[in-house]
Amino acid sequence: MNNRGVEQLIAKAPEVHVSNPPLTEIVYVNRTEPEHGDMRRRPTQTMADTEINEATQTARIRIFRQKPTGNDDIFDFQDSIFHEIGHVVYYFFLTNEQKLKWHRVHTNTHFRWTEAGGDPVEHFAETYATYLLHKELVKGQLPTEYSFMEHEVFRVDQ
Ligand SMILES: [Zn+2]
Repeated sequence: MNNRGVEQLIAKAPEVHVSNPPLTEIVYVNRTEPEHGDMRRRPTQTMADTEINEATQTARIRIFRQKPTGNDDIFDFQDSIFHEIGHVVYYFFLTNEQKLKWHRVHTNTHFRWTEAGGDPVEHFAETYATYLLHKELVKGQLPTEYSFMEHEVFRVDQ
């Protein structure tokens, strides 16, 4: 994987969500161990993190080499990138009212997110990634989350 590969992967995300600002860059870091990362994720998944700069109201995503060989699993890689973009969307694109609405979705969900560890923000990031990559799965199994994504995040009704 390299930075050009990352560019190609993000093409599936809505342009507005990956525009600069707020998202200034997605960088591929060619080493396996991050100083810190999205530690709530499964250990087998690609490590990545999102740095939010509150002063400049911008964000930067770093994604780390998954395996010592650099032979990254493309699907896992994509999932991790979209998970991080989900953090950017939650922080910059949701209104406070929408965040409250999401917290209600989170409280009432029947699905227990192992990655999310009970954290509504992680739940959002994971749902955002799953919606983009496996929309039918979310539609069939998580109708409340699906409806939130459709109407509040992707605005297909507008
Ligand atoms: Zn996360």
